[in-house]
Amino acid sequence: MDRRRFLKVLGATSSGAAAISACGIGPEPTEHLVPYLVPPEDQVPGTATYYATTCRECGAGCGLHAKVREGRVVKLEGNPESPINEGRLCSRGQAALQGLYNPDRVTDPMARGPNGAWQKLTWDDAIGRLATKVKEARGRGIVFVTGLESGSFGELVDSWTKDVGGRHVTFEPFAFEALREGNRLAFGT
Ligand code: SF4
Repeated sequence: MDRRRFLKVLGATSSGAAAISACGIGPEPTEHLVPYLVPPEDQVPGTATYYATTCRECGAGCGLHAKVREGRVVKLEGNPESPINEGRLCSRGQAALQGLYNPDRVTDPMARGPNGAWQKLTWDDAIGRLATKVKEARGRGIVFVTGLESGSFGELVDSWTKDVGGRHVTFEPFAFEALREGNRLAFGT
C-alpha cells in the first residue's frame, strides 16, 4: 500500500461523445480534463520546471532533478551536486516514473481469490476487510510491512501500528551488497 492510498484509507473538460467501438466492447468512459483556474506560480505552460529531490527507490537516497511539465513529472536525472551519486542515476531510479504512470501499475486494492489469483477490490470492501482483520489480530502481533518510509508518513505508520499493538517493518528488495554492486556497475564507483 503506498502513501497516497494509505492516506485515502485514513481519511480532464472534454466533450464526451461516447463512441461505440467497432469491436462491440462498448462505450469508452467519459473523462474530464480540468485546466488550472489559478495556476501555481512556479508552473508556466510550455516551460519545464525542475525540482531537486531525493530518489526513494532504495535506501541509498541519491539526489535527483525532476523535470516537470504542466504539473507532471516527465523525466528524472541525477543531481550533479549530490555527494552520493554525483549526477548519476541507476536504472531503478530512472524507472521510478513507471510507478506513477505505467498503465500496468497497481491502482486498486487487491486480494487473492479462492483460486489463488489476484482480484481487484473496491475501496469500501478493502477497508472493511482490513478493519475486520485488524480487529481480529489486535494484540496478537500485527506487522505493517512497507517499503522504505521516513518523515511524516513513516511516523504516521509507526504511530498507528503502535496504537494497535503492532510494529512497522520496512523491506528493501535488494540486499545491501547487491545494491552496492548495482551502484558500482551503474555509477562506475
Ligand atoms: S541507487 Fe538507484 S534506486 Fe537507489 S537511490 Fe540511487 S538512483 Fe535511486
